[in-house]
Amino acid sequence: LCEGLAPRADLLIEHLHRLNDAEGALRQGHLAALAERLRLSQVEVFEVASFYHHFKIVDDTAEVPRTTVRVCTSLACAMAGGEDLLARTRAALADRPHLAVEPVPCIGQCHQAPAACVGQHQLPHASPEAIGDAIARGDTGPRALPAPQANALTQLQRLLAGALTGDAVIAELKAANLRGLGGAGFPAWRKWDTVRAQPGVRYGVVNIDEGEVGTFKDWHVLTTGAPQVLEGLLIAAEVVGLSHVWLYLRDEYHDARALLEREIASLRPRLQALAERFPGYRAPAIELRRGAGAYVCGEESALIESIEGKRGLPRLKPPIVAHHGVFGRPTLAHNLETLWWVPLLLAQGGATWAAQGRRGRHGLRRFSVSGRVKRPGVHLAPAGITLRELIDEFAGGMAEGHTLHAFLPGGASGGILPASLADVPLDFDTLAEHGAFVGSMAVVVLGQHDRARDAALNLMRFFEHESCGQCTPCRAGTGQLVRLMQSPAWDGERMDELSAVMREASICGLGQAAPNPVDSVRRFFPDEVGP
Ligand code: SF4
Repeated sequence: LCEGLAPRADLLIEHLHRLNDAEGALRQGHLAALAERLRLSQVEVFEVASFYHHFKIVDDTAEVPRTTVRVCTSLACAMAGGEDLLARTRAALADRPHLAVEPVPCIGQCHQAPAACVGQHQLPHASPEAIGDAIARGDTGPRALPAPQANALTQLQRLLAGALTGDAVIAELKAANLRGLGGAGFPAWRKWDTVRAQPGVRYGVVNIDEGEVGTFKDWHVLTTGAPQVLEGLLIAAEVVGLSHVWLYLRDEYHDARALLEREIASLRPRLQALAERFPGYRAPAIELRRGAGAYVCGEESALIESIEGKRGLPRLKPPIVAHHGVFGRPTLAHNLETLWWVPLLLAQGGATWAAQGRRGRHGLRRFSVSGRVKRPGVHLAPAGITLRELIDEFAGGMAEGHTLHAFLPGGASGGILPASLADVPLDFDTLAEHGAFVGSMAVVVLGQHDRARDAALNLMRFFEHESCGQCTPCRAGTGQLVRLMQSPAWDGERMDELSAVMREASICGLGQAAPNPVDSVRRFFPDEVGP
């Protein structure tokens, strides 16, 4: 089953996927054989296999369902009846023992809620009938996607021909004020400068593990613009001097993975031709890695651990990954959308791109918009736009029968804000005084029939499920908050204590930001949570 895959320890997760795909689960006998093949202890293989949600470990003789139907119950899908869909699908398929039906956290289809996944087949606007039909047709493999827009590698060739220098590229990123679009918003040029200055071998990582509740823009960018992402990556590799790059894609995007595999394969002969045309050009080795259902791997150091074939446990920092990343080497880590912009900025000029913002903000932003709006989807809008403008100018206004009650400006971690803040610009650093942030620009809109406290509970359950368990404040705190939030009247004093400890003592952003929904509901929606 693992034929053609090198017996390397860093490829452990890829090997596990092969076994899991073939059998529908990981059999203990297979794990033992794999340990021997990769020269790892059985404990090492078991601890990795048991860490990731998409792997199931079973006895050698256990019956395994042929197909698993996963129904999303995260926020946007829950608002669109995800829990009801789960119950009705379970009832409809109850007499089919070879099928399993289970809830799943956000699968990045929030604009087409409620969504489900039948095997590896994403099903938007799902119903029990549509799920049953997909099973009957045998539609359990990835959806076929149209080829994305081709790309001539124009900016890369300018760089290789000397029409553009590495310094000039970094100057354009600076003029554009391009910031990391995975959530942290760190200036891209600074990252490039920092990694470029490190001695010795340097690596690159493209983070396509978008798992933040409400975020689906990366799927959109990848499926419409993978060649442009790859050009941005090759430019970064040339300027920063990266010899090896890894693209880490969330496992739920089976259709995008097939597309990306094709794009990388078709790039290889073109890079060979460029190496012949520009003597001295050495393109980086490019590897695509598959996540396995762990939200925490969106955190860059956890993602790097996963690339190395380990559990996705976030590292203590410092050192930062720019100094000590993949296999201990300096590493440039970027969200794929950040790289998508690079060729475009170089073509337009950074300052021209930056001028498109509103209210003194720079450039354009891709918002994932879901919830109670007429046109949910990915909307490209000027940086500095307000929620009200985003809804009215891009998302078609509020959905029929709904008025604005609350909104999430930045997915699960970014807090929940009231309608009275709909005129504040949505951009990096603009919401800090309200205890919120935009992160990866995932906007979920709640109407007057939705309660902010229900949304917050849904998000806290997500954090409890996704906590990697490495540190106690996050592992225990998320669970305790879930229990406290189920009470009709919230215990504010206890919540304050938990929130403070989690913020102070958690290792990574998941635990540090997990109290945000609770804190913002208590601050802005006190009438929903009792005296
Ligand atoms: Fe893991 Fe949570 Fe600690 Fe992050 S904060 S390292 S997710 S336990």
